[in-house]
Amino acid sequence: MSALVNEFSWSHARHETFQACLKRYYFAYYASWGGWDPAAPARARELYLLKRLSTRQQWAGHHAHQAIEFLLKNARRADAGDVAATAESRQLEIMRREFRESRAGAHRADPVHVPGLFEHEYRLEIPPEEWKAVVGRTAQAIRRFLASDVWRDLQGLPEDDLLAVERRAHFTLDGLKVYAVPDLVVRRGGQVLVYDWKTGTADPATHRPQLGVYALLALDRWTAAPAEIEAIAYNPVLDRRAAFAYSADDFETLRDFIRDSADEMLFPLENPETNDAGDGSNFDCAADETPCKTCPFLRACPRWGP
Ligand code: SF4
Repeated sequence: MSALVNEFSWSHARHETFQACLKRYYFAYYASWGGWDPAAPARARELYLLKRLSTRQQWAGHHAHQAIEFLLKNARRADAGDVAATAESRQLEIMRREFRESRAGAHRADPVHVPGLFEHEYRLEIPPEEWKAVVGRTAQAIRRFLASDVWRDLQGLPEDDLLAVERRAHFTLDGLKVYAVPDLVVRRGGQVLVYDWKTGTADPATHRPQLGVYALLALDRWTAAPAEIEAIAYNPVLDRRAAFAYSADDFETLRDFIRDSADEMLFPLENPETNDAGDGSNFDCAADETPCKTCPFLRACPRWGP
């Protein structure tokens, strides 16, 4: 088997990390690479452990996604009604277990499989009522999703029309691999609908560029006609949504956005040909401290730690 190589690729999440802080980007996409291997150097393993941490808000969002994925994948089973009725309690039980494991530090022994929480790793004092509110947010997302017309419409779709559920995929742009993980892609009434669940407080309308990347994936995979694609950002916590259509010109603008972003990312590398970031000295800390508050790499960062 050939050795894994850290190939340069693009994703919207990678773009956002790069824009937020170059040092964080270096830690996440270069210095932590390979740290999942117990035989990797200690620094890569430490940075990988930190990279895998979630803030409590990210954790709540992840569990809302996981519950919706479970519902969608089981919607056509004979006992789908029972699955839906127990979805909330099932998910909260998983959250309780993960919380206990994270608090006990179990993720440090196995960061690949055991989720760790930022708040536990950095020993932050979070009042119990705040943790309750986090879990309540996930519960509310599940309840509202089950009561939504989105769920009602999706339940009735035949299995063959579910094109992708939380599946990481990529398309190629000028030889560059562009990764995208739409939460759901379905075919309905001659259209390809791309869904993304949002559980934060941002207006769903602000997600147009990210969903545009998913629409580009749909254009590559499931239809060649831009007019047949609709992308929907749906927030089940707030029961709010925004729907986006993209013209052929919009798609070309999105491709230029990805090309420009990728060029920017290659600039600080020591050797762009081999995707070599060197020792990271070309990657500066963010100019202001705003992104540091929730950055998992705090204790590794020269601004705060060593
Ligand atoms: S702690 Fe702040 S400066 Fe350091 S990597 Fe994280 S976001 Fe960047």
